Amino acid sequence: MTSWDIDRYAHYAGKLQPTSETSGHFESINPSNGESICKIYNTAPKTIDAAVESAQSAFPEWSKTPPVERARILLKVVALLREHNDALAHLETLDTGKPYSETSTVDIVTGADVLEYFANLVGSGGLNGESFRLRESAMVYTAKEPLGVCAGIGAWNYPLQIALWKSAPCLAAGNCMVYKPSEFTPLHAEYLARLYRQAGVPAGVFNVVYGAGDVGAYLTKHPAIAKVSFTGQVSTGRKVAGAAAGEMKYVTMELGGKSALVILPDADVGQAADVAMMANFYSTGQVCTNGTRVFVYRRMKQEFERAILERIQHVRPGDLFDPATNFGPLSSAVHRDKVLAHVRHGVDVDRATLLCGGPGNPAESSDSDSDDSNNVLPPHLRNGFWVRPTVFTDCTDDMGIVKNEIFGPVMSILSYDEIDEAIDRANATDLGLAAGVVGCDISLCHTAVARLQAGITWVNTWGESPAEMAVGGWKQSGMGVENGRRGLEAWVRNKSTLVEMWKPQSVFSKL
Ligand code: NDP
Repeated sequence: MTSWDIDRYAHYAGKLQPTSETSGHFESINPSNGESICKIYNTAPKTIDAAVESAQSAFPEWSKTPPVERARILLKVVALLREHNDALAHLETLDTGKPYSETSTVDIVTGADVLEYFANLVGSGGLNGESFRLRESAMVYTAKEPLGVCAGIGAWNYPLQIALWKSAPCLAAGNCMVYKPSEFTPLHAEYLARLYRQAGVPAGVFNVVYGAGDVGAYLTKHPAIAKVSFTGQVSTGRKVAGAAAGEMKYVTMELGGKSALVILPDADVGQAADVAMMANFYSTGQVCTNGTRVFVYRRMKQEFERAILERIQHVRPGDLFDPATNFGPLSSAVHRDKVLAHVRHGVDVDRATLLCGGPGNPAESSDSDSDDSNNVLPPHLRNGFWVRPTVFTDCTDDMGIVKNEIFGPVMSILSYDEIDEAIDRANATDLGLAAGVVGCDISLCHTAVARLQAGITWVNTWGESPAEMAVGGWKQSGMGVENGRRGLEAWVRNKSTLVEMWKPQSVFSKL
């Protein structure tokens, strides 16, 4: 099966369905060489309505299916995802521009893990309520009920993983979903819909519509949608949450960040540099939790910079299917231009010191360009959306590159003298997605990390986000969590029942 036979279709009622009218189309582009992969037509409003209706018709039966049976079906999807790992990874690499070395080992794996986790959780009592005796004559019991038809709206950086992080707890809890992938990375969605069906998920339980922001906005406002689970930028998240609030819909918001990594004075410099590299250059920096503000103890700064420069030599752009490639292009031309504008701002306006990289086109790097000698691209990739891994140093808190989310491979090094000062500066932002520390004294690490204002924190590592770990941003970085036990709670509503077992004393009986 190829996924690019989806051009004029949406997926609902269990299969590909033609859109009832066309409202424009977009092209899915291979970011590594700029070539078009396929055209995809925006799902027209009437077809979005039909997708929502198909989910509504599937809901009564799916929500009443015992959790253990739902779990059995979803575990079959997990097996299929693992069986199709390489084909899906291939698709994700073409669509996102991420090296196959990443997509084949992380993107599908972590999506399947989350589905397995939630299937097992609901199959082993994760949706059970509680009961307690209130007094001798009365007891209370609670039930967790699915919400109904939910919308999932995804970003482009981890397309399949995001689709699974949303649909796994949604479906496991007994809801149905209408999912809209990002217009930049739509190819995984039909593939996933077919795997759900192949495993026995009933028609209408998982549906896909395509298009840009207007399709997401239509879905968000749709009166039959009970919840919107959104991943994207803070500015879009505000619009989506605002529209959902008008109808009192449930929301989960996974938004942007400008996360701080604090290298403590006793840190091992090599380990600190490894963590900082992971926190800035994995997935070409297109990770929401990236630790782009790297606070380094002033006396360690030079040694840290040297360690980073050594490691930059191991960043290898190139053919995305070459196992040695560990650095891809940015996901679209629009995004590449945005990231380059930030880098130029860093050079021209902020006047930060450029340690390596910069706004130049990596295709034009020469061997004499010492810190970019590994970054020379072969001719067939020169029309792709490549940028250089970039490190600024001597940065200050007021610089644009330090304040704004860049969402690309751009690290800012800031130095500090006192740990308290570093923590206060790390917290001086409206965003609070992730944060982390590197150090040897583990008590100091715990104390420091406890004071960092972020929903996801790491000590001596960066980026791992296992299914068991609830993740979500503080402040403007989001609302609610995904994954972990708390991630399931976000897809159910609670009903509490108080049972009086003796004859109730009515105030009216005394009248
Ligand atoms: P956007 O906010 O641009 O888009 C996210 C999704 O929302 C896309 O599917 C988009 O459609 C859709 N959309 C756009 N406008 C509306 C609207 N008015 N109503 C409903 N939906 C709309 O984010 P990006 O795709 O650019 O993703 C990058 C951002 O996502 C970064 O800020 C990153 O930090 C954040 N992110 C957060 C994560 C987290 O877990 N906290 C994880 C991954 C990314 P389309 O793109 O097709 O126009």
